[in-house]
Amino acid sequence: MIKKVSVVGAGTMGNGIAHVFAQNNFIVNLIDISPEKLESALRNISKNLDRQIAKDIITEEVKKNSLTNISTFTSIKNGIAGADIVVEAVTENPELKLKIFKEIDEHAPAAAILATNTSSISITKIASVTKRPEKVIGMHFMNPVPVMKLVEIINGFLTEPAVTQMVTELSKQLGKVPCVVSDYPGFIANKILMPMINEAISSLYEGIAGVEEIDTIMKLGMAHPMGPLQLADFIGLDVCLSILKVLFEGFGNPKYAPCPLLINMVTAGKLGVKTGEGFYVYKPGDKNLIVSKQFAK
Ligand code: NAD
Repeated sequence: MIKKVSVVGAGTMGNGIAHVFAQNNFIVNLIDISPEKLESALRNISKNLDRQIAKDIITEEVKKNSLTNISTFTSIKNGIAGADIVVEAVTENPELKLKIFKEIDEHAPAAAILATNTSSISITKIASVTKRPEKVIGMHFMNPVPVMKLVEIINGFLTEPAVTQMVTELSKQLGKVPCVVSDYPGFIANKILMPMINEAISSLYEGIAGVEEIDTIMKLGMAHPMGPLQLADFIGLDVCLSILKVLFEGFGNPKYAPCPLLINMVTAGKLGVKTGEGFYVYKPGDKNLIVSKQFAK
């Protein structure tokens, strides 16, 4: 039975993943190379637990227990000792992930499952650098983790069915809805989402419609909570471009070729919310406040 969870990487996703495990009574070791990231992760978790209290989702007692369940570490070796499962959520960089997985494999208990939250890197490739490829699996949480219900579970080529079963059950224990898919570029979420975003950008590039029209049509016409261009700004245009490249190279199909406008925007440093400007212009420090809808190609 899974009780002890180590989360490697305490950034946007890592702190959310630690939060949901801790809230559901798992013992969590949160690991990051940066002590500042660990501190800000704990602050974020506390703030997000407060938000859940304000919405009557949890009690003060649950907040207290959740925070007690989390310990922080700056060393992978120390942080994964005794783990039943390790969930890796470090920066999306293939070389870094492979290096970290070798290290995790070396120090994690032999029976531990090794999961990765990668959005686009092959699970089979990550598994290939370990001595336990049958215990390596994708556990793709969505952002923000405490709010989003889905966990896309990705079977590597060699993942054992018993491991998939355990991770499926574990996701349910977190109150999430697991969906199991196979390991091909973009898995399912990004294999479908990124071409839609790319098509929205192409429509703008071709001058068929403006930013606001494209987003309004997709929001109101398809009942999407936000339009594809605004969503791309939220995800980060650099992240969208890098996932499209994975799809393009992985399937060798020109339908995934990134739109030249997306490439130009990334080259120009207009990455969306994180740089304050993408398809929209945002008020500094407030990602929810769009101050301008002007856009120049
Ligand atoms: P992030 O940049 O916010 O956080 C990454 C963290 O990894 C940082 O805190 C960094 O200090 C830490 N780190 C880097 N090298 C490390 C090392 N050697 N040892 C320990 N920690 C190290 O990134 P993120 O957005 O949280 O993304 C993490 C993973 O989650 C990526 O694989 C990404 O593709 C995936 N993902 C992200 C989102 C999203 O919306 N942000 C959604 C789904 C999946």
